[in-house]
Amino acid sequence: MKKWNLIIDISKCSDCNNCFLSNKDEYVDNDYPPYSVAQPKHGHRWINVMRKERGHGGLMDVAYMTLLCMHCDDAPCIKEANNGAVYKRRDGIVIIDPIKARGQKDIVSSCPYGVVYWNEEKQVAQKWIFDAHLLDAGWEEPRCVQSCYTGALRSLYVEDSEMQKIVKAEGLEVFHPEYNTRPRVYYKNFYLFNKCFIAGSIAYQHDGIADCAEGAKVALLQDSRLIDELVTDNFGDFKFDRLDENSGKYVLEILYKDYDKRTMDVDLKTSVYLGDIYL
Ligand code: SF4
Repeated sequence: MKKWNLIIDISKCSDCNNCFLSNKDEYVDNDYPPYSVAQPKHGHRWINVMRKERGHGGLMDVAYMTLLCMHCDDAPCIKEANNGAVYKRRDGIVIIDPIKARGQKDIVSSCPYGVVYWNEEKQVAQKWIFDAHLLDAGWEEPRCVQSCYTGALRSLYVEDSEMQKIVKAEGLEVFHPEYNTRPRVYYKNFYLFNKCFIAGSIAYQHDGIADCAEGAKVALLQDSRLIDELVTDNFGDFKFDRLDENSGKYVLEILYKDYDKRTMDVDLKTSVYLGDIYL
């Protein structure tokens, strides 16, 4: 049977916060029984946009990650709740029943992703419900998807087997797979948020003038094993991406025309721009 999934492409998010705003517009002051009671005006971010800056100085980038309920297939919040107060619909959507869940504050801390909020006035835990009330009324996508002008968010109503094919074909990942919660929210180009890079700019001197070393060959090694190699662009820049943070010691080997081979050691903690490297 078909179920709902969400794909978030980190490379397309521009931090416009339309998803956040459309969520506020939909839920603040509005009850949708039996799925949710109104979201408070302040304090709740059922859809949140997180920021990650990588690098520094001459080479840095910034990525944005939309964070919301993952509608986990193996959801800790469902296990935590009493009286079936949190349940999964046949279409994959996880709902916190606002009546049954009244007073059950532990539901908030049971979510390892931190996407459940406590409504003090109504004494109930709340989160993004995938706009189940709209989908039930025939909408083809939730409002966050509809409002995303860059196309960073995509909702898919497909069989699980079809979704797994898409996961493989598009290289999708889930947030914190080690939690084993089997999320129905997937991230594309996630490396922009959860991996790091080693970058630099290679230059040389001739007749007392500095110039960019376009076409220099740069190899990245770890424990004498070749990890990757590339060629500098016309600014002499190189960038090895998708590396794990705190992944230890690397060696860079730089070859350019008839200059002597240059080697550099890098102890990688987080993204690093090595600056100008003169041959
Ligand atoms: Fe429950 Fe949190 Fe998973 Fe949503 S993300 S289903 S609130 S455990």
